[in-house]
Formats: sequence, structure tokens, C-alpha cells
Amino acid sequence: MAENKQQTPDPFWKCQNCGNTIQIPLPPEECPACHEKCEFLNVTCYTPECGFTGIDPRLK
Ligand SMILES: [Zn+2]
Repeated sequence: MAENKQQTPDPFWKCQNCGNTIQIPLPPEECPACHEKCEFLNVTCYTPECGFTGIDPRLK
């Protein structure tokens, strides 16, 4: 009876090159916005301080 699957939202990744934010399970090799091989920072945050938007405003 393991029907209690919790749906975990995908994390948010922010491109360190252009600042584009995407929500996918894993960061892409190439940024879909600037088409560069950028470093992606996990900016996921679901606490009340972040306003429940899913993105940490302090990391913007
Ligand atoms: Zn980018």
C-alpha cells in the first residue's frame, strides 16, 4: 500500500551567464536561452521567506 507518493517539484536552475531560470530535474548542458555551456546554480527555495515562488530571491 505505498500509494503515498509525494510529488516533489522540480528544482529551479539559474544560468550564471545570462540569468535565465528554468525548472527541470537536472541542469541542462547548454542553456536554452543563451546557448552557452554555462554553470547552473540551484536557486530552489520553497520556504515562506522566498514567498513560495520556488526561487530564492536572495540568489537572483
Ligand atoms: Zn544562459
